[in-house]
Amino acid sequence: MNEFELIRRHFTRTAPQTVLGVGDDAAIIQPAPGCDLHVSVDMLVQGRHFFADVDPVSLGYKALAVNLSDMAAMGATPRWALLSLALPQVDEAWAAGFARGFFDLAARFGVDLVGGDTTCGPLTLSVTIMGEAPAGEALRRSGAEVGDDIWVSGRLGEAALALACRLGKVKNVPPEVLAECLQRLERPEPRVVLGLALRTVAHAALDVSDGLMGDLEHMLAASGVGGEVDLEALPTHPWLAAHRAQHVTLIAAGGDDYELCFTAPVSAREALAAIAEQCGVKLSRIGRITPDRGARLLDQNGCACPLDKKGYDHFA
Ligand code: ADP
Ligand code: MG
Repeated sequence: MNEFELIRRHFTRTAPQTVLGVGDDAAIIQPAPGCDLHVSVDMLVQGRHFFADVDPVSLGYKALAVNLSDMAAMGATPRWALLSLALPQVDEAWAAGFARGFFDLAARFGVDLVGGDTTCGPLTLSVTIMGEAPAGEALRRSGAEVGDDIWVSGRLGEAALALACRLGKVKNVPPEVLAECLQRLERPEPRVVLGLALRTVAHAALDVSDGLMGDLEHMLAASGVGGEVDLEALPTHPWLAAHRAQHVTLIAAGGDDYELCFTAPVSAREALAAIAEQCGVKLSRIGRITPDRGARLLDQNGCACPLDKKGYDHFA
């Protein structure tokens, strides 16, 4: 099987919301009238973002999920994707599995795969996602205001715990806890519906991919403000909560959470409770925006909590 056969067989599907999909020199898309086009790209490299033996179905899922999370963080509706693959060899079973994970998730969120590129090389995947939101309504990182509450969706630290176990850095985690956390690492749930609901309520938002405190710092810097986070308020797995003191860094800076962190005025608390209910996503109020710059993690006595690291940095 050659490159073209592989594309035809595994990566060509109908693209109902696209003017022209896979097969020509370029795809043609048409955003809805009055909407801005949102574009983002993410790359996954074997040995860096995933293990060589990872299940291809999970990998196909995650390659798209991390991109959907970026659209969620903007409050955008994801609509189109491009997929670039470098593959060491043509492996039919692998391609079929990868495509299944990718397209199952794409179908759930109404995303068309409209093109890509396929070459021979060390296993590397790159997905470009495109979405739309009414002009001017996007959730940017730069809108946080002094006095806002800081919120986070879902639970933090679970993916990082699974990774730490896999790397042998954490031991004695009960198998059923590890299984749940592995699911979070391999199949993060993109918070797209939540992102759309937050558009009219949140002042600023981003998705937590590299660890809460580091990512929060990006939002604070973009907004020209500071923030305090209460360690005790951080939502996590009950097992991690019971061992919170030992695993502060996993919870507050572990990464791979793909939850949304956002700020909203105090007056929005009731509206947010309703949104949490509607979306079926837990929302936790974890801190507040302050005038003095920087992100501070506080323990129950209000004292600064030290972290081994703030977040993941590929070049650190
Ligand atoms: P070109 O030589 O013009 O770059 P290609 O031969 O690379 O074209 O690709 C042919 C068609 O297949 C294009 O429409 C391209 O977008 C699509 N395509 C290539 N690789 C993928 C992929 N992995 N997933 C989806 N579409 C792909
Ligand atoms: Mg090409």
